[in-house]
Amino acid sequence: MSDETKKTSMKMATWAMMTNMPLRLKAEITIKMLLAGSDEKKRREIMHNVGERRRLTLPRDKIEWYSSIDQKACKQCKICLNFCPKGVYSEESDGSIAVTHPYECVMLCTGCEGRCPEGAISFPDRNDFYRYVYYI
Ligand code: SF4
Ligand code: SF4
Repeated sequence: MSDETKKTSMKMATWAMMTNMPLRLKAEITIKMLLAGSDEKKRREIMHNVGERRRLTLPRDKIEWYSSIDQKACKQCKICLNFCPKGVYSEESDGSIAVTHPYECVMLCTGCEGRCPEGAISFPDRNDFYRYVYYI
């Protein structure tokens, strides 16, 4: 992923994260982001700290938010299988790669998506996820 793509992705993630925030927290983050300017390390820290304050409104296994594989596009290279630290993917007996433990998928991770050379991995809309989130 190029630096420009990473920056755009971070901006989109920040925007999506802020859509469901209480106004007070939104104002706090906006000021911190303005102060951080283009310092990506500081911006990531801010997002990480916000993430620590995030709680789910439902148990994880009641939230339909996880990766999907387009089997027509997948070339069974296993990059996603080897990358995912949560064991979301498994190899089936026919060699295909399947999402076998969807609720182990870390919400908003999307780390495997950019690693798939075929663009075969997708996720639900980020905004869907924020219906299931509140902040402490
Ligand atoms: S990284 Fe993409 S192409 Fe490779 S196995 Fe996973 S989904 Fe298929
Ligand atoms: S998004 Fe993260 S946790 Fe979910 S399947 Fe991909 S690498 Fe695993």
